[in-house]
Amino acid sequence: GARFPRPDETRVFTVANQKGGVGKTTTAVNLAAALAESGLHVLVVDNDPQGNASTALGIDHHAGVLSTYDALINDVPLSDIVQASPANENLLCVPATIDLSGAEIELVSVVARENRLRLALRAYLEHRTREGLPRLDYVFVDCPPSLGLLTVNAFVAAEEVLIPIQCEYYALEGLSQLLSNIDLIRAHLNQELHVSTILLTMNDSRTNLAREVVGEVREHFPEQTLRTAIPRSVRISEAPSYGQTVIAYDPMSSGALAYLEAAREIARRGSAHTRGEELRVATG
Ligand code: ADP
Ligand code: MG
Repeated sequence: GARFPRPDETRVFTVANQKGGVGKTTTAVNLAAALAESGLHVLVVDNDPQGNASTALGIDHHAGVLSTYDALINDVPLSDIVQASPANENLLCVPATIDLSGAEIELVSVVARENRLRLALRAYLEHRTREGLPRLDYVFVDCPPSLGLLTVNAFVAAEEVLIPIQCEYYALEGLSQLLSNIDLIRAHLNQELHVSTILLTMNDSRTNLAREVVGEVREHFPEQTLRTAIPRSVRISEAPSYGQTVIAYDPMSSGALAYLEAAREIARRGSAHTRGEELRVATG
């Protein structure tokens, strides 16, 4: 059985930060792998045209493979699109192909354009129930580094937002814009959405700067910030080139252990943890 508690219902996370290179994809795939490793059923939706999450999970995503694009634009059910990760049959992925780069524009003229991913995901959860497949415990939607329609779709499909913050100078820059966008989504499109989780990434605890950033983030977001920070680790950055998460690639490495610990925290504290908190950040 699972070592981490199963949630009462499927928890859907959007992993977002409009900055690139802060660890969104690394966080989405490694938390997903850590939870799947403990026996839970997990889906990663690759919602970034770069397809980095698909690559990291060892999922085929060459042009022509059914992908997130087909769900958003062509009404293809996710049940026809999902692939299981070669490392773990409980770890599923909706891959992204290069097609998705056009979706941001094509979505503009689609009916209910903000709701596409939510509807696709709901239909898939119902499909699994109908087919007698195990209920999904976690869904992670990996977002591109922008606040466009792809990210809006992810915000509308989720209840929880997970924001990775890189432990470096300007870490909090851009965060007020992200939070006010989330407020807008909550006001107009999805009342349930809230920032439940902040994860400090690429931490180098030997530097004063990283220590200052960690302190500042914890001060601003005491309830949301996980106690576990992810260290900067070569093994984490090597794993994707083998089509593996660090959980599979080097399970005893500091990076793998940190993601396992972060996943445990997320599982233990549950979804009600931070619901209803208003987040503000005073920067610059
Ligand atoms: P994003 O999805 O926000 O653009 P990524 O997850 O792709 O960010 O990470 C950016 C780069 O940093 C990638 O090359 C990734 O392998 C690397 N990286 C992410 N987290 C770590 C870490 N903890 N230690 C070392 N490298 C990391
Ligand atoms: Mg990414």
